[in-house]
Formats: sequence, C-alpha cells, structure tokens
Amino acid sequence: MRTTLTATQGTILAAIRALTAEQGHAPTLREIADRSGLSSPATVSRHVKILTDDGYLDRTPGIQRSIRLTERAENRAMAPSVHKALTLSVEHANARVHDLEGKLADQRDKTRKARAQSRTLRAAIARVRRLHAPHQTYPWALPDPNGSDHTCINCGHDTDSSADMHPRDDRGDVLCTATGLLPATCAHCADADGNPLPWPCLTSEALGPYA
Ligand SMILES: [Zn+2]
Ligand SMILES: [Zn+2]
Repeated sequence: MRTTLTATQGTILAAIRALTAEQGHAPTLREIADRSGLSSPATVSRHVKILTDDGYLDRTPGIQRSIRLTERAENRAMAPSVHKALTLSVEHANARVHDLEGKLADQRDKTRKARAQSRTLRAAIARVRRLHAPHQTYPWALPDPNGSDHTCINCGHDTDSSADMHPRDDRGDVLCTATGLLPATCAHCADADGNPLPWPCLTSEALGPYA
C-alpha cells in the first residue's frame, strides 16, 4: 500500500471531499472529472481504482454515487495539491462573500439615504401643512369692545346679559357664538388687504394627499 499521492490523485481526493460536502452525497465520476479539470470520467475511473486499492477510497461496485473517502484519506495530512485545491476553493468563496457583502453594504447605504431624504421631505411638507392649517373662528360681536354700546352686531342681543354666548378671544375681542363658526380660512394666506383667504388655500390643495 503506497503512502504517497500524485498531484492528480490529491486533486481528485480534494474534489471528492468538496463535492460530497457541497452536495450532501457522493459525486459521480463526471462531476469529479469536471471539478478536477480532468479530461474524462475514464481518467478519473482509473485513478479512483488506484486510490481504492491504496485504501484512500471506498466504493460499492456497480452502484452510482458510492465513492467516499476512507478514514485513511480523511486522517492523512493533506498533500500540497489537495491543500492548494481547497485553498483556491475557499479563496474563491471568500472573494464571492466579500463581493456580496460589498453589494449589500451599498444597498443598505442607498436605503439609508433614501429614508433620510424621505424623512426630510415629510418634515418639510408637515411644516408647510401646519403653516397653511384651517383656521375657524366666530364672528365679532362688538366693533369696539371698550365702547359703551354692548349690543351684538351679529345677533342683536346684549353681550353683557348673554355673556355665555359672547366669550372673549385671546386678543380681548368679544365674539358671537349665536350663529356658529365662520367658514374656515387659511392661517397663512391673505389677500392684498390682509384678509385671510378661504381654506383649503392653493398651497394646501397642491400638497394633496402627501402627509
Ligand atoms: Zn351675538
Ligand atoms: Zn394657505
């Protein structure tokens, strides 16, 4: 029983080891030939016969996919060629992983930027929306809240005897709640005379459904 392996035989053992690990079952002669860079399954078959005789491989004659490494092959220190084949294969896998990780990082970066952009945009829209919010109030009851005439110009009641109907707003103006709220106006938009424009104004209509 020989203890040295040729480079080709080392490569074949490495190929069988790798293919078995990858597929979860034994490879065919064709698969071993492809992986080892050998011209034909017949060449592989010849080497497999030698490796089997030398106790590196075990196979059930006539059964497809029955080639497996023996304990002798598993325990044997890897021949330089085997080591090289495995190293190349690992290097290839590592390069691929590195490449994919790079792509993934790029994607994450793009997603992060898009999210930040979207957040900025939404915040800007929200600011504009708050600015152009609908404003609703009651009509004024008195042209001069500090004057002597306390008769409501809106409903005609005396604002002192019907104070619950005529509250003061935060600027001290007396309002009349008898006839309900005035139509909504934009809190921001005004005409040339400074009178508020009806809501929805052009800006809030232009924002449409964007939140
Ligand atoms: Zn009134
Ligand atoms: Zn507006």
